[in-house]
Amino acid sequence: MATDTKYVYVFGASRTEGEAKMKNLLGGKGANLAEMCRVGIGVPPGFTISTEACTVFSTQGRDVVTKLIRDEVRQGISFIEKEMGKRFGDSSDPLLMSVRSGARASMPGMMDTILNLGLNDEAVAGLARKSSNERFAWDSYRRFVQMYGDVVMGLKPVSKEDHDPFEVIIDMVKQERGVQLDTDLDTADLKELVQRFKGLIRARVGRDFPADPWEQLWGAVMAVFESWNNDRAKVYRELNEIPESWGTAVNVQAMVFGNLGNNSATGVAFTRDAGTGEDLFNGEFLINAQGEDVVAGIRTPQQVTLEGSRRWAKLAMIGEEERRAKYASLEELMPDIYKQLLNAETLLENHYRDMQDIEFTIQEGRLWMLQTRNGKRTGSAMVRIAMEMLRQRLIDEKEALQRVNPERLNELLHPVFDPEAIEKARVVAHGLPASPGAATGQVVFFADEAEDWARAGKAVILVRQETSPEDLRGMSVAKGILTARGGMTSHAAVVARGMGKCCISGAGAVHVDYRARTMTIDGTIYNEGEWISLDGSTGYVYLGQVPTREAELTGDFGDLMRLADRYKKLAVRANADTPEDARVARGFGAVGIGLCRTEHMFFEGDRIKAVREMILAEDESGRRRALGKLLPMQRSDFEGIFREMNGLPVTIRLLDPPLHEFVPHDEANQKIMAQEMKLPLAAIKLRVDELHEFNPMMGHRGCRLGITYPEITEMQVQAIIEAGLNVKAKGVEVKAEIMIPLVGTVREFNAQARVIWKVAAQVAAERGEKLDFLLGTMIETPRAALIADSIGQQAEFFSFGTNDLTQMTMGFSRDDSGKFLPVYLKTGLYERDPFQSIDQKGVGLLVRMAVEKGRSVRPTIKVGVCGEHGGDPASIDFFHRAGLDYVSCSPFRVPIARLAAAQAAIANPG
Ligand code: PEP
Ligand code: MG
Repeated sequence: MATDTKYVYVFGASRTEGEAKMKNLLGGKGANLAEMCRVGIGVPPGFTISTEACTVFSTQGRDVVTKLIRDEVRQGISFIEKEMGKRFGDSSDPLLMSVRSGARASMPGMMDTILNLGLNDEAVAGLARKSSNERFAWDSYRRFVQMYGDVVMGLKPVSKEDHDPFEVIIDMVKQERGVQLDTDLDTADLKELVQRFKGLIRARVGRDFPADPWEQLWGAVMAVFESWNNDRAKVYRELNEIPESWGTAVNVQAMVFGNLGNNSATGVAFTRDAGTGEDLFNGEFLINAQGEDVVAGIRTPQQVTLEGSRRWAKLAMIGEEERRAKYASLEELMPDIYKQLLNAETLLENHYRDMQDIEFTIQEGRLWMLQTRNGKRTGSAMVRIAMEMLRQRLIDEKEALQRVNPERLNELLHPVFDPEAIEKARVVAHGLPASPGAATGQVVFFADEAEDWARAGKAVILVRQETSPEDLRGMSVAKGILTARGGMTSHAAVVARGMGKCCISGAGAVHVDYRARTMTIDGTIYNEGEWISLDGSTGYVYLGQVPTREAELTGDFGDLMRLADRYKKLAVRANADTPEDARVARGFGAVGIGLCRTEHMFFEGDRIKAVREMILAEDESGRRRALGKLLPMQRSDFEGIFREMNGLPVTIRLLDPPLHEFVPHDEANQKIMAQEMKLPLAAIKLRVDELHEFNPMMGHRGCRLGITYPEITEMQVQAIIEAGLNVKAKGVEVKAEIMIPLVGTVREFNAQARVIWKVAAQVAAERGEKLDFLLGTMIETPRAALIADSIGQQAEFFSFGTNDLTQMTMGFSRDDSGKFLPVYLKTGLYERDPFQSIDQKGVGLLVRMAVEKGRSVRPTIKVGVCGEHGGDPASIDFFHRAGLDYVSCSPFRVPIARLAAAQAAIANPG
């Protein structure tokens, strides 16, 4: 089929067609392989089949894509043949290939890889002769048949308790030979394995293992395309918001071997520490090993650097002598290669100006680079690397700010173990500090069960021998992950760091028995459900639940926040209802309280009784009596908040929710209420029934409460003003802002404003002193947004209640949308949940309009947002563009909002 589109791009020492910029077309891996060739790093030659070919495969099928790319693939193979001086399919000196996936965004371990492609019964003999290593040749062959059988021909374990069918055969042969390790199998054993593997394939698939290298190649290429749609890749895409339409590229590359004897090796390295961000080259390798052995976590690897090796030995409690004898570093074992590797990592990091995750193979004393990519890292590593690269002048301030994903700051805000409690806690095991964090939960051994438990509201720690890509969903819901095997670059470690999840890997003393659902550590058996705690920063596993403490904004995190404050235009306030919330918010850098929901105070301690008394009162005087009880409590709350926020503005909203939220709806609690209030149960039931509304969110709430029961507004305003005066007398600077909720008309606003001014004047007269405050309103009904110019003549500030504004504009309730919204999101009717990320076109238009109208009548009017959207980075970008003065979000999102606001300012200059 003739076509102008180019689908295949070669890379090698003599010619390279791609480059780093072409990620969308060549995938991350393909683009970076090309780029490495361009900067002169030794990469085995190869070619990349573009992601566009994958799209053709997905939409038009195998035959169409084969016809489209056939000639170009043939030319690609000839290119490799020329570069390597060998021929594909030549059985006397075979040229073998690797075939790997590589999407735009890295998806570690999610899709498939095939190594040693091109081997068959004749070629294996040629390889044995050429390498003078018959065992190596047969080991390569049995790996190839095993991988191909799994990936292309579909031989997988049948159920979760089942083992890999090929591993079962290997174990059988080992048992028959009376040996323990794979490496103890001799050439005859490996030949036997290949025979049995092929037999298994024939029996299960009804077809022979293909001997023709070209047939093998096409099978592998199609399998990689197909793996874009396997379950684990889909899950990964869902978790990481990667569109299905991207597709994967396929990289076909000449094989180099790390398993040609003791002067060969394979490894993975990071230019900086992916867990902590420390500027320390580090990595792991295995002598005489191939490809995935390091990441698979089957053998415990050695460290690349001497420093890393010493640190590792200390954690593993291995003495220096034993370390040097059994676990020496690459730096000690192959100093020349190490130097080349060090040069390459420096070159790559400087070239990409970001932390690189590199894969390399040493074939008989020659170093080959197989991959480089921006390394996945924890939230704290993200911050530290950005700030250190800024200090090292590798990147500028704006870039440093953009390097950190605001959501990932969450990890730095997680609690840490209380140092006193940790001193006393019992250590039961010890592994590698693969991903920092403090996690406490119940032990679960299977990923799907971790999901079930988590769904039931339990905190779980997923404990595995080692993890595999199938465990992804379970890992994502677990509080932490513990594995018995694997190093710092094992699947569990890499994925956990990418998720920012606490992980300890390679805890050798832990023995997992999946069938019994137990783990044994030093002779003690621990059952499923046992509570344990993991410290991902030290690698210690503790028994039981260790208490935690709040995190602090210090060091690089603090510096990043200060830097963000220099760039951001939006101020960041917090939604805080108690003095304790206010304290936390201030610690996280909030410059005010944007919303204090006074009703939350009504639930504390005994207050709810007084609230219910007010609700049940027959008349105004009864209500006033009950409100009189609430007054001192509200006042003392406000005093606490003003004290904490000394000098910063505090927006206090008058009572908003429908009253039915304060009464019990089940008979048991109604009985308790009846006893407490010394009323018959029937009276309680009657009043609860009276409070029933068909649409309470559109019912008797917001300013409608204050208008029908002005005494509630009176009490609240009295409490606010008296509290302000009381703390002012003690030297606290008070900046109170009183906010009327759910306004829809100017008259509503004015009616409440009159009550507020009246009380303010009364208190001032009584106390002989007056408290200054601003009087403003929520803009949360569409009508309020539409008439914002009229309202703006009266109100001194606007705060957008985007939760209500969203539900009223969209016409569906935030409490009832759970039945259809997930379907809307899945089918793409909505890209994002409009209650999480603001609907910019619709609800956003109302916001923009109201800002404009408000400012047209009162140019200095202060406008902010206090709905959930105030803490969402995409919405913050919108609010920046809409010209708001501030966003207000929950205390724990304040740092996220500060960074997001800085990024918004950088992305939208001028
Ligand atoms: C809002 O509607 O956005 C808001 C902040 O108020 P609430 O969520 O309390 O209704
Ligand atoms: Mg609201």
